[in-house]
Amino acid sequence: MSGRAASRTGLRRWRIVISVAIFVMVTLLWVEYSELFLRPLGWVSRVQVFPVATGISLVVVVFWLLASLLFGRVYCSTVCPVGTWLDIVGHAGRLTRRGAARDYRYSPALTRWRYVSLGVFAVSIVAGIAVIPAILEPYTQYSRFVINVLKPGWGWLNNQLAALGNATGWWDMYYVGHVEASLFAVLLSVVTVIGISIPAWFFGRTFCNSLCPVGTVLGVASARSVWHIDIDTDLCTNCRKCEYACKASCINLSDHVVDGSRCVNCFDCIDVCPDDAIFYRPTRKQLSFPLMQRLLPPKVTAPSASANVPVQRVSDHVTNEKND
Ligand code: SF4
Ligand code: SF4
Ligand code: SF4
Repeated sequence: MSGRAASRTGLRRWRIVISVAIFVMVTLLWVEYSELFLRPLGWVSRVQVFPVATGISLVVVVFWLLASLLFGRVYCSTVCPVGTWLDIVGHAGRLTRRGAARDYRYSPALTRWRYVSLGVFAVSIVAGIAVIPAILEPYTQYSRFVINVLKPGWGWLNNQLAALGNATGWWDMYYVGHVEASLFAVLLSVVTVIGISIPAWFFGRTFCNSLCPVGTVLGVASARSVWHIDIDTDLCTNCRKCEYACKASCINLSDHVVDGSRCVNCFDCIDVCPDDAIFYRPTRKQLSFPLMQRLLPPKVTAPSASANVPVQRVSDHVTNEKND
């Protein structure tokens, strides 16, 4: 592997390490009974964009908007636990399929769905209708699932182990209190997680780019972010491997354009490209010949010679300059 390819792989590797670490920390924060992790891990809750359940911070929202303007949706690739969960589900789904069925495909943006969902989310918050933001907002979705589903299971397991330790005398463990979760809360948690997981199994980040209000807001900022995924049309051989790897279905190879509002900065496309033709960088590659031949005005400027001079292609123009 070349040095350049190795450094590209590093981007994806770091993205995976950070996202898994934050996912585990968020889970521990909400599943633990002893509040052992509450103080050291409380920050993972405070850096979330719209945590309806724990209070929205304007400073945090502005911070992530600026980060998205500069670097794209890095929040969605590393900090959001639902994004990591959807990646796990999507990866599992791909492993169960064979051949072309494993591949993701480009699809047009679901712009209307995104803005309708964001509008409903905003109106519900203003009107004080708590249940809709609680269903749509990803951090609330995940923390509710952990508290209502994983935590009782974790407590039950803990108490079984404590009982076994007492009976055998081999270890000593504290019993934990019984966590009450209403049937409605459990059902809402399970249905929400299943509802976002089924599309992820087949299509990747569908929820992120259709209904998630956080993704829509950050997508507006990241649409023309400074650092972004960019395809070099002079190097690209149109093998489509990047499109097939893109969980956000946002690589349009007909135009060699990546939709920055939907890209979740996973860097999977960079790793699969066999021609080193796709980059994460602050510059934008200008389409050039021979893939895209633009028409230029004639090079001759003398008034007498300007009439009836045929239009030149870019390639002719450059060849003439070299010959000169
Ligand atoms: S789009 Fe929403 S659910 Fe997806 S990663 Fe971003 S914040 Fe999380
Ligand atoms: S274009 Fe697709 S594969 Fe590439 S970083 Fe963005 S979301 Fe990931
Ligand atoms: S993987 Fe690379 S060469 Fe293949 S279509 Fe994508 S950018 Fe082009």
